[in-house]
Amino acid sequence: MSSIYNFKENINQEELENIANILKEGGIVVFPTETVYGIGADATNDKAVEKIFKAKGRPQDNPLIVHISDYEMLKYVATNINSIEKKLMDKFWPGPLTIILKSSNNVAKSVTAGLDTVGVRMPSNNIALKIIETFNIPIAAPSANISGRPSGTKLEDIYNELKDRVDLFVDGGFTDIGIESTVVKVENDTVIILRPGKISLEDIEELGVNVKLDKHIFEDVKENEKVESPGMKHRHYAPSTKTILVEYAKDQIMVDKVDKYIKDNKNLRVAVVCFDEHAKYFKDRNIEFIKMGSIKNQLQISKNIFSILRYIDKLELDVCLIEGINKDHIGTAIENRLIRACEYNIL
Ligand code: AMP
Ligand code: MG
Repeated sequence: MSSIYNFKENINQEELENIANILKEGGIVVFPTETVYGIGADATNDKAVEKIFKAKGRPQDNPLIVHISDYEMLKYVATNINSIEKKLMDKFWPGPLTIILKSSNNVAKSVTAGLDTVGVRMPSNNIALKIIETFNIPIAAPSANISGRPSGTKLEDIYNELKDRVDLFVDGGFTDIGIESTVVKVENDTVIILRPGKISLEDIEELGVNVKLDKHIFEDVKENEKVESPGMKHRHYAPSTKTILVEYAKDQIMVDKVDKYIKDNKNLRVAVVCFDEHAKYFKDRNIEFIKMGSIKNQLQISKNIFSILRYIDKLELDVCLIEGINKDHIGTAIENRLIRACEYNIL
């Protein structure tokens, strides 16, 4: 079983150097970022990166994001950076934005899954930055979870599934944002959002650049269809319990849908994940509910959502109905994760 370093209150310098040594020797380490927890390895060491794929059971064709702590590292991993990419970096780094860039072929082949591009991000979480700085080599790190499962936003949620698969855990408490980074690619002077995150289409528009959402953000990928980002094809974020998304609508429409589902499925144990403000409807009807946060605070919901998706499994329900969110700002990203968690089952 691997040990845990507790960096919640402060970062221990000696332990930081131990982490760098583990990475140097080709080990893999779970650490917090401002989005979700990551499993990191030396991005230039093929064997170390292979261990991440093995630990997660991640499909080999799904590339990893490379995490850097300064612009020297950027120069090492990517090349031909254009003015729009530079603008994005100036505005949003360090922070939850991954930019797909032309690879300079210095990272391990398994990191990019053989593509000629590389996804790069400079995180803002202090623990993550300190780990990369101390190691002084870019770190490849996907989300810390078994592939297909919800991402980890606190160590307690992921420790058991990963404890025999990684060399060390760094505990930084509950992550701030709770959903993974926004992933963008610049094509023909347009910023294409391949995966939505806290940095929203509206935020990027403020830079005065063209920006659009990739069509697969709310749509399943058809067989043999070409996608911009391999991760779009794979099963994602799903609890073991069957979950169904109740699309965002007027309160009464949403409540009617839930009532009808429960009436039509009397033999099933059903609960609802809802906005705090809507708990009253289910209380009145004696329906079990789990509150996900206030409808007025999208960031609170984004912070809670993966932990709630994991909590659902503990309740041993037959079905969980999840209220959808308005698709603007970070709501776009939350809805994207919920649709996938529900495997496109929508009421
Ligand atoms: P994860 O590391 O689990 O948060 O997932 C990283 C996401 O970034 C996945 O959806 C990948 O498919 C995507 N990604 C990483 N590198 C690239 C790349 N070079 N081109 C396109 N998508 C990428
Ligand atoms: Mg992931």
